[in-house]
Amino acid sequence: MVTSFVLKVASRCNLNCSYCYMYNLGDKTYLKQPKFMSIHTIKTFAEKLSRYSTENGLKAFQIVFHGGEPLLFPKEFYKESVRIFTETLNDSYFDFVIQTNGVGLDEDWYALFDELNIRVGISMDGPKEYHDKYRVFHNGKGSYDEVRHAIQIGLDKGMHGVLSVVNLNITPRELYQEFKNLNIPSFNLLLPDGHFDKLPDDILPEKINTHGYTPFADWLIELFQIWKNDPDRPNMRFFKTLIQLVAGEEVGDQMVGLKKNGVAVVETNGNLEVADSIRACYEGITRNNINIHTHEIAAILEDPLFDVYINSHQMVNAKCLHCPIYEICGGGFLLNRYSNEKGFDNPTIYCHDMIKLVSYIQNDLIDSLPEEVCEEMQLTRVSYDDIVQELENINEGFPQQEIKEKLLAYSLA
Ligand code: SF4
Repeated sequence: MVTSFVLKVASRCNLNCSYCYMYNLGDKTYLKQPKFMSIHTIKTFAEKLSRYSTENGLKAFQIVFHGGEPLLFPKEFYKESVRIFTETLNDSYFDFVIQTNGVGLDEDWYALFDELNIRVGISMDGPKEYHDKYRVFHNGKGSYDEVRHAIQIGLDKGMHGVLSVVNLNITPRELYQEFKNLNIPSFNLLLPDGHFDKLPDDILPEKINTHGYTPFADWLIELFQIWKNDPDRPNMRFFKTLIQLVAGEEVGDQMVGLKKNGVAVVETNGNLEVADSIRACYEGITRNNINIHTHEIAAILEDPLFDVYINSHQMVNAKCLHCPIYEICGGGFLLNRYSNEKGFDNPTIYCHDMIKLVSYIQNDLIDSLPEEVCEEMQLTRVSYDDIVQELENINEGFPQQEIKEKLLAYSLA
């Protein structure tokens, strides 16, 4: 079931980040969207959500205000939007979240979000020298100073946390120290967007998923060690989720684990689509004719791409199904599996990184627990080399041809 909705309240941004999937990774269809979501669209969406809630017995929803840059959406629209949701679905619980680049996030904005019970997440890429290389204004100027200011004033105003894209040019120690210096209570990491035909800058195409080439795992393992050894460590969702998965908990998201992705995107014009980072595959891949002005919310479940997305940890490549860490990795994020030749029928571009990182965390956890506890939890040591070797021999044997066809349907070959 879809219970989390990302509302694209603004389809433009005041920054021009070089790696942005919205504007710089292949899809220009945002130019055909209205710049802002109208109150009429919010109202229509809330009415459809109310019907969807009643029909499916759902009483809790997450609403993520997103963009573009959601702070470009006028303040009075936030007040109106929250009022519409809470009045239209007056027996439901809402977790309101905003994910912003932090530019222009001042005391007035924080006061508004506090009043409306909207949790604030800020995107930041680490120390000034690195942040300013990627997260730039349209004139090329870096945004670090503005974002740092927004974080500092947000520390005692309920700022929820910071989200960073992993950048191998920053050392893990530098990144960690930056966030410690800023007293950030919680941060999460994202692996860079990209796929086999549009690899992130830091991956060498000729080496991808070859034995021993694990730049992201090596970086993340170093960060994990720093974090683990810090008695005053901030909350790090990325590592915590992996630890929980290793311990057998049924957690996860669109990146890892086996849970279904109950997230849908509502565009500024009311279109209902899959997560917008999937747009980086090719122009128009996420577009469908489903719009909340003309359709019920359940219509999104009929979208073939949404079907692959929501079940992305079940619809995986043959190697993944045989992989000893499949229940933890889940085959990775759908975008990271894409290639023009095979659509989504690939392991993720971070496959070897995941094998190495998960092996490290699993073995580290085992080392810290008494033997009988490991036995009880059925935890056994795993080896990167052994898993890679095991997977090398698996090419075919996909048990469900129907799933393979769904994954291959997005091939451009
Ligand atoms: S580690 Fe690689 S083979 Fe294993 S589940 Fe993840 S993507 Fe698939």
